[in-house]
Amino acid sequence: MSDRTTALIQHAYQAPAGFAAPQPGVFKASTVFFPNVAAMRQFEWKDKTAYTYGLHGTPTTYTLEERLCALEGGSQCLLVPSGLAAIATVALALLRTGDEVLIPDNAYGPSKALAEAELAHWGISHRFYDPMNPADLVANIRPHTRLVWLEAAGSVTLEFPDLCEQVRICKAAGVWTALDNTWGAGLAFNPFDLSPAASPALAVDISIHALTKYPSGGGDVLMGSIITRDVGLHMRLKLCHMRIGLGVGANDAELVLRGLPSLALRYQAHDVATRGLAHWALQRPEFAQVLHPALPDSVGHKNWLALCKGAIGSAAGLFSVMFRSDFSQAQIDAFCDALKLFRIGYSWGGPMSLVMPYELASMRQSWPTYLKSGTLVRFSIGLESVPDLQADLEQALQVLARVD
Ligand SMILES: *Cc1c(COP(=O)(O)O)cnc(C)c1O
Repeated sequence: MSDRTTALIQHAYQAPAGFAAPQPGVFKASTVFFPNVAAMRQFEWKDKTAYTYGLHGTPTTYTLEERLCALEGGSQCLLVPSGLAAIATVALALLRTGDEVLIPDNAYGPSKALAEAELAHWGISHRFYDPMNPADLVANIRPHTRLVWLEAAGSVTLEFPDLCEQVRICKAAGVWTALDNTWGAGLAFNPFDLSPAASPALAVDISIHALTKYPSGGGDVLMGSIITRDVGLHMRLKLCHMRIGLGVGANDAELVLRGLPSLALRYQAHDVATRGLAHWALQRPEFAQVLHPALPDSVGHKNWLALCKGAIGSAAGLFSVMFRSDFSQAQIDAFCDALKLFRIGYSWGGPMSLVMPYELASMRQSWPTYLKSGTLVRFSIGLESVPDLQADLEQALQVLARVD
């Protein structure tokens, strides 16, 4: 090897400073250089005044964190490799043996599985509460309850709780509140200022977000965020996050940074299309119930209206239908298989419309009184043309009659 190969690694050329372009730069590193040993001993990553190691932050991750804080109205943000990792990090950072966590019975399923299968091993107990009955939340808070998860709306059954009342109850009891704000995306309502009349602001303690959904918008990134307004709480989360070694790749952070400028426009487009299709579904005889918080008969519609105000851009791209109970599972499976534009798949927030049948009975502690019996199918509406999506649903419904 000639010494020219050293120049491929250590080259004297320095590109001129001052490059400016719409998209922020993408910085990739494990190692970060220190100018000298004294600086190495002094550099502090915890308050983002310097860089020490790729896992502890780069200009790319700091930039994404700050933009997400602006979106959600928080002041500190941590990035993790998935939405579920955000939920798990909150639990690991805040819960100790003997503590209890409360989870709404309509919660994102893997959040329940985390409590049932992992937290239980650490001596951390859990209870599921009825998200639509504040009295049930009150009854479930016990002396060792430390943390209450909140979700608005539920991501499968789309009922919208009285979030303000839930936060007030938790504050009065002195327990932390953590909101899974994936549905609201930081756009439908402000999790750190839930009631404009309240002073001081009525706020959740923590808002987590599956950036995998709307902020990415492409269906090609997995990432999560944990946002707070309380520096002490943030530091507790941050130290746990650092000690267990969570971080995100610069390419993924870049994709989310690229998605953010169009986030609000995409969210509005998903909202308009979804409301249109939910109204169409109301007219169809095959469905016993259509679940979407903007429908006047939906569960918690008044709560949604009070918090989100109802304008376009205040509801996400999800709605579910409860097929009449006289349809068999085979008929409903055939309906899902017959869809051409809607693909069968988990997740949401991307450009492509998705469908998923759910076995609700196995997901809930009890079947809620507000849900009719039947089989639930959830639609995640993408950015395709609405008449095309409606035609696809109509042709697939015709299959129901042919299968028994
Ligand atoms: C998708 C989702 C998550 C988890 O996000 P991942 O990035 O897929 O782990 C958490 N909460 C809700 C409500 C979700 O829809």
